[in-house]
Amino acid sequence: MNIPKVIRKYCAKCKTHTEQKVSIYKAGKRRGSARGERRHAERKQGYGGQKFPKLAKPAKVTKKVTPLMTCTVCKKKYNKKGVRIKKFELVAA
Ligand SMILES: [Zn+2]
Repeated sequence: MNIPKVIRKYCAKCKTHTEQKVSIYKAGKRRGSARGERRHAERKQGYGGQKFPKLAKPAKVTKKVTPLMTCTVCKKKYNKKGVRIKKFELVAA
């Protein structure tokens, strides 16, 4: 799926249509010291450590891609609804 790098769309902050740059949202780096991460590591320790069976055959063959829109006027960022797609490409024009 080809998506243009710049789209003219409605910006809720500017309350008008503006040019918006499109990029792909990526989750941030996980902190090993976060409570959930520590709990997960703790529960995986020792005898019978695996919390849940590892997926042998995942049901989905694609991952969701979330386009991240950035307004060029007010720099406000927002995510568009994610789409399941094998190949996501940002093209000029
Ligand atoms: Zn804006």
